[in-house]
Amino acid sequence: MRYISTRGQAPKLNFEAALLTGLARDGGLYVPETWPSWSDAQFKKLAGRPYAEVAGAVMKPFIGSSLKPAQLDQAINAAYGTFRHQAVAPLVQIDESLWLMELFHGPTLAFKDVALQLLGQLYDIVLKARGERITVVGATSGDTGSAALEACKNRSAIDIFILHPKGRVSEVQRRQMTTIQADNIHNIAIDGSFDDCQDMVKAMFNDPKFRDRVNMAAVNSINWARVMAQIVYYVTGALALGAPGRAVNFAVPSGNFGNVFAGYAARSMGLPINELIVGSNRNDILTRFFQSGAMKMNKVTPSLSPSMDIQVSSNLERLLFDLFDRKGEKLGAAMTAFRESGRFEAPKKGWAKTAKLFKAHRLDDRETLSAMRDIHKRTGMLVDPHSAIGIAAALEQRKGRKADGTPTIALATAHPAKFPDAVEKATGIRPALPAHLSDLLTRKERLSELPNDLKKVQDYVLANIRLGHNR
Ligand SMILES: *Cc1c(COP(=O)(O)O)cnc(C)c1O
Repeated sequence: MRYISTRGQAPKLNFEAALLTGLARDGGLYVPETWPSWSDAQFKKLAGRPYAEVAGAVMKPFIGSSLKPAQLDQAINAAYGTFRHQAVAPLVQIDESLWLMELFHGPTLAFKDVALQLLGQLYDIVLKARGERITVVGATSGDTGSAALEACKNRSAIDIFILHPKGRVSEVQRRQMTTIQADNIHNIAIDGSFDDCQDMVKAMFNDPKFRDRVNMAAVNSINWARVMAQIVYYVTGALALGAPGRAVNFAVPSGNFGNVFAGYAARSMGLPINELIVGSNRNDILTRFFQSGAMKMNKVTPSLSPSMDIQVSSNLERLLFDLFDRKGEKLGAAMTAFRESGRFEAPKKGWAKTAKLFKAHRLDDRETLSAMRDIHKRTGMLVDPHSAIGIAAALEQRKGRKADGTPTIALATAHPAKFPDAVEKATGIRPALPAHLSDLLTRKERLSELPNDLKKVQDYVLANIRLGHNR
């Protein structure tokens, strides 16, 4: 399998190179040159098989010869062995046609573990074979930081630095990052906002001398390997409810569009998915896009579902690439214009198909709390604000429509205890942390505080990467 850039101007890469490259050199995102095309029989063979086995079968065509089969199996077993549920992504039935898929049984209680646990393993294998080391630098407003740190801790070929805005992440989120004990991980609290942190990471990427000296890498959701790992649970979920003989819908709370794009990828391989229902909070650029075909950039406003407080959904570019008939140069020009004008209009051709597949609904904070309360009342289940938005979007889509027998799977992206304040506000019940984190609030924290000053942060990175890093 070869990977091409959505902007058509970067070299084609194999899986290994796409894994290590992240953003393409022309500013685009890497996508498979063609989608693997599966027959019903290929899907059927995987029904009822363990998650790890499905993962191996689904990812193999995307990885090609970049890994030996035994290496891939080893990576999968190590990644999903860290999950606290044997099924990895279990389904829970909510009502006659709605299911919840729990994607939060990984080490940091958010769905990002599904992709990042595997990414850590893949980096390890590939870097060892190449005799190389990397430095991961990232900014986080919450979930990505802890998931990336957990995935990279104690890996001999990786040093990782995560910047977070001092005093502006929740205590649970901060402690999930600062209480991990490993020599190769570094938490930095920056005296500034999340945007300041992100700007510093961008500035480091744009400083070629620094970037090359530390062999800098990214773990954000534009990395193709993250999307690939997420395709697997769309397949296991659909198979469990009767695919390929029966079609299913998925409802996905969305920010960067990485999660739901994996559903689109599964469908492109031949999995019978009728609708992909996108849920957003008041930062609703995706909802507006799927309802109208147009996008206008607004300012980001904080909400109860902070992991979806995003205005430009980077992974949407991968869908737009298909909408532009895979003409990279045309899409590149449209994206540049979007950055300048803040406006974007989908090409008329192909839009009808996209609008038929993707449905979208938005919830403000009041509606989110009310959805959480309602789910608790109906089922006794506590759900986090992000997952509640997915469930509410699924219910909204079902409203006023004759039941057609198509089941919907809503993806639960975080454990309720990750957002205890919102859950308590909605239901009056404060959810308890799972056993492996029950002493989180008394564990010893390790972090450094630095001013909002690029030079000081770069000096800190250089002083803390391990010896022998620069060959
Ligand atoms: C990251 C995240 C999301 C959004 O996922 P995208 O892939 O960015 O759309 C939703 N919910 C939770 C809990 C998250 O951590």
